[in-house]
Amino acid sequence: MPVWAIVVAAGSGSRFGGPKQFQELEGRRVVDWALAASRSVADGLVLVVPADHIDDEAPAADAVVPGGATRSDSVRAGLAAVPLEADVIVVHDAARPFAAPALFEAVVAAVRAGADGAVPAVAVADTIKRVAGVEVLATLDRAELVAVQTPQAFAAAALRRAHADGAEATDDAALVEAAGGRVVVVPGDPANAKITLRADLG
Ligand code: C5P
Repeated sequence: MPVWAIVVAAGSGSRFGGPKQFQELEGRRVVDWALAASRSVADGLVLVVPADHIDDEAPAADAVVPGGATRSDSVRAGLAAVPLEADVIVVHDAARPFAAPALFEAVVAAVRAGADGAVPAVAVADTIKRVAGVEVLATLDRAELVAVQTPQAFAAAALRRAHADGAEATDDAALVEAAGGRVVVVPGDPANAKITLRADLG
């Protein structure tokens, strides 16, 4: 029952001020940390990069493909390169270099146990409000909220179905949920931060 991973690294890093996934972090590029951790569970690995990085060396990946205009487009580009025999597909953001192999194992195990999707979740520390411009419309009940990370694991058929009509979302679980799939949470890791701003690299 092969597991394949898609590492999406095709963002432009507009908030960071450049493609953060190719910055150096403790001796290797941010994306290389994401690839190495993904390999801990994956039999095969697809790396999705900006078109101008398609010729970069990527010995850790089995396939390198160009991404699209949005994250969802980039995941679809990766999916097209995943062989049909894969039955679990893990999607991971290159911008999360601190994800531990144990997190990958936990999401894959939850899918093997029967979920259509599994995502790492952490408690929300801030109070979250819904706003329209500067007006506060509502304060949400923090006890009911979690913040969700990658890696996210899916039954391959559920992920392919969720992406079939080209829908957009900020993560893949949202598309699987919208398609009627059952998505569960596993304990996330507060250390598994997404590098967004230059300050995140220290
Ligand atoms: O946009 P955001 O910072 O949330 O990106 C999360 C991940 O998706 C990053 O690893 C980024 O490189 C990737 N991405 C992509 N293609 C895009 C936009 C984002 O692969 N068009």
